[in-house]
Amino acid sequence: MSREYVYLSFFKTNKIDYIYHSKLQTIEFSCIHCQNSAMMCSESSEWNCTFCNHSGNIISLIKYATSNDFGRIYVPKKEQQSILQLLDRIAKKYPEEKRLLKVKGKINVLVKYYEKNTV
Ligand SMILES: [Zn+2]
Repeated sequence: MSREYVYLSFFKTNKIDYIYHSKLQTIEFSCIHCQNSAMMCSESSEWNCTFCNHSGNIISLIKYATSNDFGRIYVPKKEQQSILQLLDRIAKKYPEEKRLLKVKGKINVLVKYYEKNTV
């Protein structure tokens, strides 16, 4: 079991918003001091926040999580899923409106385009 997996499962099991940037080997999460984006190295668990200059490692986050909630961050994948589910529900309610499925298709193509063309 790699350390990376252990660090990611910390975020998952505690239901903490995070974005895993696999190419950069970093895990983005809401800074426990200022709520901006903090970055953790997925190899060492060392993290720092460029907004407030606080830093730490997985131990400091585990301690924080025992009695505090983490802030939220915008997780594009979650948001995409939520939008597509919303469109599905609307499409079920208005089955005669075929343009809803067209919108869903267009959103998927647009997201794939940006995924392909951004780091
Ligand atoms: Zn911070």
